[in-house]
Amino acid sequence: HLLSRRQRQMCIRDRTKVVPRINVLRLRTFFYFYEGGTMKYNRPRGTVDITPENSEKWIEMEQLLRTVAANYNVKEMRTPIFEHTELFSRAVGDTTDVVTKEMYTFKDKGDRSLTLRPEGTAGIARAYVENKMYALPEKLQKVYYMGPMFRYERPQNGRQRQFHQFGVEMLGVESPYVDVECMLMAVTIVEALGIKNIKLHINSLGDDESRTAYREALKNHFRPVLNDLCEDCQARFEKNPLRILDCKVDAKNPVMASAPRTIDYLSEKAKAHFDKVCSLLDDLEIEYVVDTNLVRGLDYYSHTVFEIISDDPKLGAGSTVGGGGRYNGLVEELGGPATPGVGFAFGMERLMLALDDEEDEENGIDVYVMPLGDEARDLAMQIITMLRANGFTCDMDYAGRGLKGQFKSSDRFGAHLSIIIGEDEVKGEYVNIRCNHSKEQSKVKLEDILSYIENHYEGDHEHE
Ligand code: AMP
Repeated sequence: HLLSRRQRQMCIRDRTKVVPRINVLRLRTFFYFYEGGTMKYNRPRGTVDITPENSEKWIEMEQLLRTVAANYNVKEMRTPIFEHTELFSRAVGDTTDVVTKEMYTFKDKGDRSLTLRPEGTAGIARAYVENKMYALPEKLQKVYYMGPMFRYERPQNGRQRQFHQFGVEMLGVESPYVDVECMLMAVTIVEALGIKNIKLHINSLGDDESRTAYREALKNHFRPVLNDLCEDCQARFEKNPLRILDCKVDAKNPVMASAPRTIDYLSEKAKAHFDKVCSLLDDLEIEYVVDTNLVRGLDYYSHTVFEIISDDPKLGAGSTVGGGGRYNGLVEELGGPATPGVGFAFGMERLMLALDDEEDEENGIDVYVMPLGDEARDLAMQIITMLRANGFTCDMDYAGRGLKGQFKSSDRFGAHLSIIIGEDEVKGEYVNIRCNHSKEQSKVKLEDILSYIENHYEGDHEHE
C-alpha cells in the first residue's frame, strides 16, 4: 500500500460520520456521451430525455413544489402509473377527448385492459376509496402527486405524449374555503417559481341541478345547427353536450361564442358557493377573471373550475399552465361514500418553459480532485471517499488526463476547490488545494485535508 495504515485511517476515519451538509441540488450526475456507431434507437415520438444538463432544473422545481406543499400541509400520495382502463372511462368520462382519443391502453398477459394514467385525479380518488381514507379522523385529506402522465396527442411546444404533472387533491370537505385554498396554493406555486404574466381564470359549472338546467339550454342552442357541427359533436349532443364546448374542430364556429353560459343557470346553492369563492379571493386580494367560457375538458368537474393562464410568449399567448376544480360526484362514482373534492394540476414542462433561464452559479461541486499518475489516483480516490462521507460533493478525474484537461473539468463542474496531486505530493504526503475563486493555493498535509476544507467553508460563511 502506498499510504501507511495510519494515513489511510486518517483519510477514512470519518466515512461513517453523519452527512450533515449534503445538498441534493448540488449532487451532479456524471454522464458519458457515446458518439461512435450509428444511432439505431430513437425515443418514441412525444417523449423527451431529461439529461444531466437540465435535470438539476427539474430537481429544483420538484423541491420547490414539495416545499410549497409542506407549507400548505399537503402530503404526498403515490399511486400506480397504470390503472384499470375502466377507472379512467368512468372518472374522466367516456365522451372526453382524453378517453376516446388519447389513452395508452393495452392488454397485459392476463388479458386485463390497463391504461397508462392520462391524469392523476382518478387514481387518487380510487386510492382514497380503496384505502378507506374517508374513515380517517382528519376529515379533509390534502394530498399531492408528481410524476409522468401519458396522452396520445399531437406533440408540439409544451405538449408531449409523456409529460409530467404536479397535482393536488383536497377530499372530504365541501366548502368554498377549500376551493380557495387550492387556488391560493396554485397561485403561490407560480409566484414562488417567479413566473410572471399569469392570470387566474375561474368559472362555476354548478351542482347537479344547475348542470341539468344548463344541459337543456345547451341542447336547445345547438339543436338547430347540429348538422353544421363535426361528427364527434353530433355524438356528444345526446351523450354530453357540455363536451361540444371544448371541441377542437368546431372551436371557431360562431355558434360556440354565442352558447349559453353556465353561470346563468346556477341553482341558488351553487350561486352562493361561487359568490363566496369570489368574495374570499377579493378579501385575499388575489386577482382573477370570471371566464364564462371555461368548462375544462374532463367530465368529473362541478361547481368551481379554474385555470392558470400564462401570457408568456415562450409558451404561446394564452397557454394554460395548470387547472383544476371541484369534483363532488367523483368518489361516489367510483364506489366510495359521497365525498366532495377539489384539486388542480400543473403541467411541469409548461412551468419549466415559463421559468427564467437563470444560470445558478451556486450549483457547482465543492471539490474536484486532480491526480497526476497512478499513485496519485489511488490517493485521490481515498480523498474523495473521505470528503463525500463528510458531506462534501466531489469528483475526480478518471480519464488520466493532463493538468489542462483536468482544470477544464474542474471549471465545467463549477468546483469551489481543486485538489492537485502529483508525484512529489504523494512522496511528501501532502496535496495542493486551490481555491478557484481567490486562486490561492496551499500545501496541506494529508491528515489536515478535512479540517482545512471545513475551515475554508466556515470562512466563507463569515463573509456572507
Ligand atoms: P388537464 O389534466 O388536461 O387539466 O391538464 C393540466 C395541465 O397539464 C395543463 O394545463 C398542461 O399544463 C398540462 N398538460 C396537459 N396535457 C399535456 C401534454 N400533452 N403535454 C404537456 N403538458 C400537458
